[in-house]
Amino acid sequence: MNNPEGITSEGKVAVIGLGISGLASLKNLLEQGFDAVGIERNDYIGGIWHFTEDKQKTSVLETTIANSSKQFGCFTDFPFGDN
Ligand SMILES: Cc1cc2nc3c(=O)[nH]c(=O)nc-3n(C[C@H](O)[C@H](O)[C@H](O)COP(=O)(O)OP(=O)(O)OC[C@H]3O[C@@H](n4cnc5c(N)ncnc54)[C@H](O)[C@@H]3O)c2cc1C
Repeated sequence: MNNPEGITSEGKVAVIGLGISGLASLKNLLEQGFDAVGIERNDYIGGIWHFTEDKQKTSVLETTIANSSKQFGCFTDFPFGDN
């Protein structure tokens, strides 16, 4: 697939790491027609925002609560639910 800017979506793309940055990148690549895959070393996605008790990994605490605005803190095409 070609676009006016001359950027092609031919070939395979690998997104390494499926925290929020990788997930957003992968979503947009797929939407633009790239043959893209995500590769994650953990057995879960979400990166630092996924709580784990594994002391070898950095994560939010089990009790972490985000108190920023859910309207401003969401993706426009994937809003948070009511609660
Ligand atoms: C409580 C809290 C509040 C925050 N508030 C803000 C804020 O207000 N504003 C702000 O800008 N930021 C904030 N941050 C920081 C922000 O959340 C992080 O910068 C962001 O989540 C990082 O996302 P990321 O996808 O880049 O990285 P990560 O979430 O760290 O994900 C990286 C992923 O890549 C994987 N990975 C790494 N290396 C490899 C490899 N070689 N092969 C396969 N997989 C690999 C990891 O396992 C991980 O899943 C906050 C963070 C926390 C915890």
